[in-house]
Amino acid sequence: MAYKTIYPYNNKVLKEYENASDEDLEQALSAGHQVYQQWRTEDPRSRGVVLQKVADLMKQKRTDLAQAMTYDMGKLLTESLGEVDLCIWIAEYYAEHGSYLLQPEPLDTKKGHGYYLKQATGVLVAVEPWNFPLYQVMRVFAPNYMVGNPIILKSASICPTSVQMFADLVQDAGAPKGAFTNLFIDYDQVARAIEDPRVAGVCLTGSERAGASVAQSAGKALKKSTLELGGNDAFIILADADWDELKQVVPQARLYNAGQVCTSSKRFIVMDSMYDQFLELLQAAFSQVKMGDPMDKATTLAPLSSKGAKEKLQSQVDAAIAGGAQVYYGNQPVDLPGQFFQPTILTDIAHDNPIFNQELFGPVASVYRVHDEAEAIALANDSSYGLGGTVFSSDLEHAKKVAAQVETGMSFINAGWSSTPDMPFGGVKNSGYGRELSALGIESFINYHLVLEP
Ligand code: NDP
Repeated sequence: MAYKTIYPYNNKVLKEYENASDEDLEQALSAGHQVYQQWRTEDPRSRGVVLQKVADLMKQKRTDLAQAMTYDMGKLLTESLGEVDLCIWIAEYYAEHGSYLLQPEPLDTKKGHGYYLKQATGVLVAVEPWNFPLYQVMRVFAPNYMVGNPIILKSASICPTSVQMFADLVQDAGAPKGAFTNLFIDYDQVARAIEDPRVAGVCLTGSERAGASVAQSAGKALKKSTLELGGNDAFIILADADWDELKQVVPQARLYNAGQVCTSSKRFIVMDSMYDQFLELLQAAFSQVKMGDPMDKATTLAPLSSKGAKEKLQSQVDAAIAGGAQVYYGNQPVDLPGQFFQPTILTDIAHDNPIFNQELFGPVASVYRVHDEAEAIALANDSSYGLGGTVFSSDLEHAKKVAAQVETGMSFINAGWSSTPDMPFGGVKNSGYGRELSALGIESFINYHLVLEP
């Protein structure tokens, strides 16, 4: 049984689930396809009613859903509650605006007047990770529910309980059977589902390795894919940055969700004149965290999501040190039974250091010293990733000019990363392709069906 809830705070196995059979998969494909056929020509407004009901039920079950996420992958309960609230917001955003966003667009051509319909394309396979067990799912589920694309979900094997709870809630809200099916399937079954002619596309959030594998299956079967992969986001601190504002933003930008966020600020790029002062600021913030029970409001840093996640992060930090990086702060064992990792600050990371171009998925900050803005921008762009990033300056126009030069999908000025339903989310380079959320996200898997009038 690969799908298990193991509470990362105390390593207790709380629940185990049977893998789905091939017959389960076939039933999900068949039910999904039937729903698609029924939805194809239906007005999306009726689906908006169900989506609003999903949001309403999530409000009722807010604490249960949040606790389930914390048990699955260890995040602070306060963060889980915030995640449920964000999911409700996304569901309500698409329930309210989805029909409008899907209205036909008029088109005047040399051949005459026409328009294009925005129609559903079929069942989608969604492969989603564990760092935000419900938010990642909602980003795909809500817009596609409005479009009329049913979903077969393969969640991360370490967060089955919260995801199944959400799938049950969708049924309770009145979604037809097959509209959203959570299946505990393995990688081969995912590949076979993608090949199936009833499936129109696949979306994945996760590592580059998983993205490449799933996109390869999609390419072979001529199916569309969207990928939201890792990031190694730069946080550029310009010489005129406001220090008080910076102090407020930096700790959360790196430590939120125990640092396991694709758009966390991972590389702090600091002007020489402020470098020492910045390290002191970061150390002060990192040394103040309180590790402990994620359910306790007083805890400010949760364990990592699994034993494997902690081992991987430790091996990356060890390799960084062996490659010449200096530990400015942290990297000490934590005397707690769970998968805790002490916040750590690494400096002197040379270009040939093994972690220079790796994503560190946990509470580890890499700090780089630069001498001018051109060097800062060049370093920010010297990465195979391009997901998000921050520019800090008290001169807005100056910050905007620098942000425009960073090769990335999202730039935040004087702020860490954030995500709201009306902002597109996604990146460039090895961070993937396509966008989720906003008006762009709802169009990821639609058929722009041209109708030309005589
Ligand atoms: P993975 O990319 O392996 O997992 C993400 C999802 O993809 C899970 O549902 C996983 O299933 C599934 N998956 C993995 N490989 C395949 C495959 N070949 N075919 C079908 N599904 C697949 O992430 P990890 O948990 O291993 O984390 C590794 C690293 O990935 C992290 O350290 C981080 O750098 C990055 N990551 C980035 C995330 C982001 O938000 N962008 C989120 C999670 C990870 P299963 O759980 O069964 O393996």
